[in-house]
Amino acid sequence: MRDLILVIEDEPGIVDFLERGLSAHGFDVKGANDGTAGAELALSQPVDLVVLDMMLPGRSGLEVLAALREAKPALPVIVLTARGAIEDRIAGLDAGAVDYLTKPFSLAELAARIRAQLRAASHSPQTRLRTGEIEVDLLTREVRRGGVPVRLSTTEFELLVYLLRNRGHVVTREQILRVVWGYDHDPGTNVVDVYVGYLRRKLRDANDLSEVPIVTVRSVGYRFDADD
Ligand code: CA
Repeated sequence: MRDLILVIEDEPGIVDFLERGLSAHGFDVKGANDGTAGAELALSQPVDLVVLDMMLPGRSGLEVLAALREAKPALPVIVLTARGAIEDRIAGLDAGAVDYLTKPFSLAELAARIRAQLRAASHSPQTRLRTGEIEVDLLTREVRRGGVPVRLSTTEFELLVYLLRNRGHVVTREQILRVVWGYDHDPGTNVVDVYVGYLRRKLRDANDLSEVPIVTVRSVGYRFDADD
């Protein structure tokens, strides 16, 4: 299967050039002309790597990078910066980009950097999450507690994965709404609390009603307690 590369860049000429060029190098390519559309595609499509221009109108490259780090921490991002924009490169790497290229760049070099990052990513496949007695297989979407399978709905599964990826840290209801439901505003419902309730009950029922380490942090959100 060809790797899917998402190019987020507002200059149509560059997007077009990269779409054709990277396709010729054996990649599937999708383009987005602004940060909002780009972040949406990155989160909704099975994207393997993102090429992100730092100079975007509206939602900046850095904001997009921050959103991607939060929702898909394992997704490699290569940033494109203007010549001489050292601060952009540093900010991009600090924000979690795996590499950068300065414009103008050669297509062959970009393709080589992409291949290198995809190889690195495939050597550290994070396909399983595990803490204490809870185990999640991200490929098969199987969940077990103490070896007992737990059947979760899609939303419950995404919620569990998000809590597990942030285990030991408090996540707010707003963060959960954004990552799990894709809302960028609070709809003013208690949907998060309701789903945390479902999740706790299913995990508890799977294992003799023993306590589930999802802690309510009053008026803030939730924390999955890490015990390993
Ligand atoms: Ca640009």
